[in-house]
Amino acid sequence: MLSEFDLIKQYFVRDRPGRAVLGIGDDCALLAPAPGMQLAVSSDMLVEGRHFFAGADPFALGHKCLAVNLSDLAAMGAAPLGFTLALALPAAERAWLDGFSRGLFALADAHGCELVGGDTTRGPLTVCITIFGELAPGRALRRDAARAGDDVWISGTLGDARLALAGYLDEVALAPADLALAAPRMHVPTPRVALGRLLADEGLAHAALDISDGLAGDIGHILAASRVGAILDVDALPAGPALARQPQALRRRFTAAGGDDYELCFTAPADRRAAILAAGERCGVAVTRVGAITAAPGLRWVDGAGAALALAVRGWDHFGGA
Ligand code: ADP
Ligand code: MG
Repeated sequence: MLSEFDLIKQYFVRDRPGRAVLGIGDDCALLAPAPGMQLAVSSDMLVEGRHFFAGADPFALGHKCLAVNLSDLAAMGAAPLGFTLALALPAAERAWLDGFSRGLFALADAHGCELVGGDTTRGPLTVCITIFGELAPGRALRRDAARAGDDVWISGTLGDARLALAGYLDEVALAPADLALAAPRMHVPTPRVALGRLLADEGLAHAALDISDGLAGDIGHILAASRVGAILDVDALPAGPALARQPQALRRRFTAAGGDDYELCFTAPADRRAAILAAGERCGVAVTRVGAITAAPGLRWVDGAGAALALAVRGWDHFGGA
């Protein structure tokens, strides 16, 4: 039997120098952000049966749990420093722990983000990561910073994670090739850390957030915090490659209100357009202009021809359903 401490030692303590002053093993970890930098902190919890299917592949799950947290740092424009891992496990299974820790560390290493501590207990499978990043004062991409006249931009593509879910749930009859194309967007999302950091460091964007519960709902957080409105072109929303092959109604619904996208939605002054396109190119991620911030409150949708659309979409709400 694997004891709690053997489990931590074998799967989560790594034999390599870290950048934390003190990592796993004491009552607290000690982190030192660079002098003068602010600490950015965020937590995201993933619960089996709620955020992922029972029996989910442990490698992909390890990746995704950290990816959603890195995505929060990206949305703020922060550089990753380290994270803690609170884990409730029904049983200490070696095969599961091996896959999970490998998926987790593959992404952590790609971002130079060190595991510095956590907590481990028996219980229904739940993974809660708290992530720490750093940021120069005044550079954060806050939700309350959008201004009337800003462009609204989206990174990457939207909707393929939602399309994969619809395929698994038989909401949509998906060809196996389409499901195979969409599924990685659901299981192994890519946090847009480099893009977020560039937007913040170079002062290109005003407000930003990462789209986790669907654009239609999530952009509402920027609009409310900034006391502005927006007009968005639903047909300009960049659909994922699998969703792009689906009928227009589904494309519109899943790009506007999908979920699990982990793309950035950000606002920026119009005179930054060329610099933002160049920033996207430098990070290897497409950036698409999809609308504008308005002084008048509320979210309005138009179609590709500019005609007003009454789009019956809203974001995901864990207590209200979808
Ligand atoms: P405490 O008694 O203070 O809760 P623990 O005995 O739970 O401490 O943990 C011992 C050490 O192992 C601590 O440094 C803690 O941060 C670390 N730790 C526990 N669980 C994990 C985990 N899942 N991943 C990384 N570090 C962990
Ligand atoms: Mg503990």
